[in-house]
Amino acid sequence: MKAAPFAYVRPSSLADAVGELARTDGGGKVIAGGQSLTPVLAMRLARPDTLVDINAVEGLDELSVDDGVVRIGATVRQRRAERDPITCAVPLLRMALPWVGHRELRSRGTVCGSLAHADPAAELPAVACCLDAQITVTGPDGERRVPARAFFTGAMTTALGADDILTALRLPAVQPGEGFGFAEIARRHGDFALAGVAARVRVGEGSRAEATVTAFGVSDRPVTRDVGGELASVLTGSADTAERLAAALPDTLAEAAGQLVDTDGDVHASRGYRRRLFRVLAGRELGKAYDRARRNTEEAADEHR
Ligand SMILES: Cc1cc2nc3c(=O)[nH]c(=O)nc-3n(C[C@H](O)[C@H](O)[C@H](O)COP(=O)(O)OP(=O)(O)OC[C@H]3O[C@@H](n4cnc5c(N)ncnc54)[C@H](O)[C@@H]3O)c2cc1C
Repeated sequence: MKAAPFAYVRPSSLADAVGELARTDGGGKVIAGGQSLTPVLAMRLARPDTLVDINAVEGLDELSVDDGVVRIGATVRQRRAERDPITCAVPLLRMALPWVGHRELRSRGTVCGSLAHADPAAELPAVACCLDAQITVTGPDGERRVPARAFFTGAMTTALGADDILTALRLPAVQPGEGFGFAEIARRHGDFALAGVAARVRVGEGSRAEATVTAFGVSDRPVTRDVGGELASVLTGSADTAERLAAALPDTLAEAAGQLVDTDGDVHASRGYRRRLFRVLAGRELGKAYDRARRNTEEAADEHR
């Protein structure tokens, strides 16, 4: 099948891009890397009357770090984000990117396009939610920031209005005492995940620990749960290894699985199987994240001796 006819514009400024989109009165669509939109057009699942190509818009290809925030512009490719030294400041992003499809599509697909597309099984929305990132949106009324955890409103649905352009993702740089874990299960490498988790742990003095786990592929959007309190109770009075920590968490995670994993079963996996995947992956990745956080703290202490 071929795409239905559409007009194509390629503005060079953000103001023009927003203006072009507004002129279509809801009938236009942004195209960035085209890795998700092109198949959708070819299958005629969408019939926009105009495509607004943002690839020539000045400034949207910037990748920068400033004041503890890594900023990824709307046309930065996933492959560039995977390799540029700037993103070493966001270890969770670098762990997640190799899981996104295949290298060929990451060389065209954009980080921000993946957020705008909002597939419930996509990796990058989960990273953004786990890190409590901010998403910059520009529309006819100017610029606003939306917390990632409020941006995804359902399957393939976001807080973007018809005239909005997602202009950047803002991710917090790694802090002392932080560690991360990321894993997913898919039928074949490069497929969307049946279930996956992103984990962040921050260890403080004594047994204090903050921990967050975000699951994807298990609901209509990424779902996040803070498990710091539970981690602290597991740690009290002991120097647990990552293995012992992971082994100590299944009760907490079974409860979290019941709350977070609400997708209906499908031809690939039942809801029960996805809950089990979540429990196992979350336990393992929180354990690894905790181990990395402790190592990170010890290394920082060694540097100050
Ligand atoms: C074979 C295959 C396997 C894949 N596997 C995975 C996978 O495992 N994990 C995964 O996460 N993804 C996967 N993808 C999707 C891929 O990562 C896409 O690149 C990504 O989802 C969209 O990025 P894009 O830049 O190509 O966006 P496009 O295809 O250009 O756009 C996608 C959607 O987002 C909108 N959009 C894009 N950018 C903006 C913006 N800046 N502002 C407003 N709206 C915007 C478009 O209008 C469109 O609706 C796969 C794709 C293919 C073809």
